[in-house]
Amino acid sequence: MKPVTLDTIVSLAKRRGFVFQSSEIYGGLNGCWDYGSLGVELLRNLKDAWWKAMTYRDDIEGVDASILMHPRVWEASGHVANFTDPMIDNKTSKARYRADTLIEDYIAKLEKNGKTDRAKAVADRLAAAREPEDFYQIIVDEEITDPVGGSKDWTPVRYFNLMFKTFVGPVEDTNSVVYLRPETAQGIFVNFRNVLDSARQKIPFGIAQIGKAFRNEINTKYFLFRTREFEQMEMQYFVKPGTHPEQFEYWREQRFQWFLDLGMSPDSIRFKPHDKLAHYADAAVDIEYKFPFGWGEIEGIHSRTNFDLGRHEEYSGKKLEFVDTVTRDRFVPYVIETSVGASRSFMAFLCHAYNVENVGAADGGEDAERTVLKFHPKLAPVKAAVLPLVKKDGMPEFADKLYRDLQKSFSVQYDESAAVGRRYRRQDEIGTPFCITIDGESLQDNTVTIRERDTMQQIRVSADTVKEYVMKSLI
Ligand code: ATP
Repeated sequence: MKPVTLDTIVSLAKRRGFVFQSSEIYGGLNGCWDYGSLGVELLRNLKDAWWKAMTYRDDIEGVDASILMHPRVWEASGHVANFTDPMIDNKTSKARYRADTLIEDYIAKLEKNGKTDRAKAVADRLAAAREPEDFYQIIVDEEITDPVGGSKDWTPVRYFNLMFKTFVGPVEDTNSVVYLRPETAQGIFVNFRNVLDSARQKIPFGIAQIGKAFRNEINTKYFLFRTREFEQMEMQYFVKPGTHPEQFEYWREQRFQWFLDLGMSPDSIRFKPHDKLAHYADAAVDIEYKFPFGWGEIEGIHSRTNFDLGRHEEYSGKKLEFVDTVTRDRFVPYVIETSVGASRSFMAFLCHAYNVENVGAADGGEDAERTVLKFHPKLAPVKAAVLPLVKKDGMPEFADKLYRDLQKSFSVQYDESAAVGRRYRRQDEIGTPFCITIDGESLQDNTVTIRERDTMQQIRVSADTVKEYVMKSLI
C-alpha cells in the first residue's frame, strides 16, 4: 500500500463532508476548521467514547465549565507569565517562526544526515534554553537558515503569549480583560471543592471535562494538528501525595490502551518521555501517533504535584485541601492529568482508518481498488447503510421500513442509486461498517444480507436481528 499523504486525507475529508476550511467562501481563516455532517458524527463518537471510558466509573465526575473565567485564574495558573512561545522573524522573507520549532526541524535534518553527535549537542542546548537570547544564540551559532528563502538575517527572539484576550462589558480597559481559555484544566481545578463536596467523593478521585480551548499559535500547521481553536478532553485525578507515581503509571497504561481499544495498532502509537519537565511536574509522558508527516503528540499524561491547587489556594485565599475523616489527615492533593486533543486525535483516527486496497472484481465492485476508512464501529460516523438491490418489486418499501427502524437507534444511510457494488464503495469510503442489502429473497422470507466492511464477507440473517447485530459492535 502507498503511504498516505496529508493532502489525500485533507481532500477526502472535504469531499466526503468530514472537515471544511473555516469561512472558506471568504478565503478561509488560518488555524480554524469546520466539521461537516460526517465529521461532526465522528467527533461526537470520539468524545463519547472518551466520556464513557473516563466518567462511567465510581471515581470520576464530569463537569462543563465556562470558557471565560476570572482573569486571576490565569495569573494563578502561570499562563499570564509563562504561556509563551519564542517567536522569530526572518528579515528577508518576513516569515515568522517559533524559534524552538525552527531549531527542532534543524536537529531532525542533522539526524537524517547521520550527524547524530551534533544533533544531540544542539538538542541539549535547546532543552536548556530559557531566555529568548538562548534560542537566538543557537540559531546564530548553527547558522540556521530560513526554510522559505534561505536567508540568515534574523530578528531577535521575543516571547509571545498564546492566550487570546478579549473584554467583558462595553468598556475595553485593563480591568475588563478576560481570556479565552487556553486549556480546559483550570475549569476543573477551580471546581475541585465544589465537586468534592457535592458528589461526596473521597481521594483518590478525578474530574473530567471536554471543551473548546484557544491558543494563538504562531504557526498553525498540518490540518487539525495545530489549530487556534480546538477541543480538549482532560481529566485531573486527585491523589494522596506519595501515591502519585503508581497513579501516574496506572493512567499512562489506561490511556494507551484506550487508543488500542479504538482500533489503533501498537506500531502506530508510542510513548515519548519529556526531555524537559515543567518546573512543577515530577513526571510526564506523551502518547504520539505516527502521522503522515511523522510522529506527533496526541495526548500528554502529567504528574503535576500539588502545584495547581496550591497556586489557587494562594491566589484565591480559599482552602483547597482534602481532610480524611478517618485518619484526620489533611493535605492538598497531588494531581495526575491526562490531556488529549479531541480534534488532534480525530485526525489521528482518520489517518489511521485510511486504506487503499486492491480488491479485484470481488464484492460486486467495478474498481480493482477501493478506498476504505476502517474505523472502529464505535467511531464510524454512519453505522449501517440500507441498500435495496433494485428499485422495484417492493424492495425499496421493505428497505425504507428497515431504515426508519434502525435510525431510531443509530445513524444510518439509505441508498438506492447505482449498482450495489458502487454503493458499497461509497460506504467504504466513509467507513460504514455494515451494508444491509435487501433482495428478492427478503420479501419472501424476511431475510437480508449484512456485508462487513473490512472482510467484505456477507451473511444472511433475519431482518428482525439486524439492529441487535449492529448494536453489539457498538458496545
Ligand atoms: P504542543 O507541544 O504540540 O503545542 P502541548 O504540549 O502544549 O502541545 P498540551 O498543553 O499538553 O499540549 O495539550 C494537550 C493536548 O491538547 C495535546 O496533546 C494536543 O492533543 C492538544 N492540543 C494542544 N495544542 C493544540 C493545538 N494548537 N491544536 C490542536 N490540538 C492541540
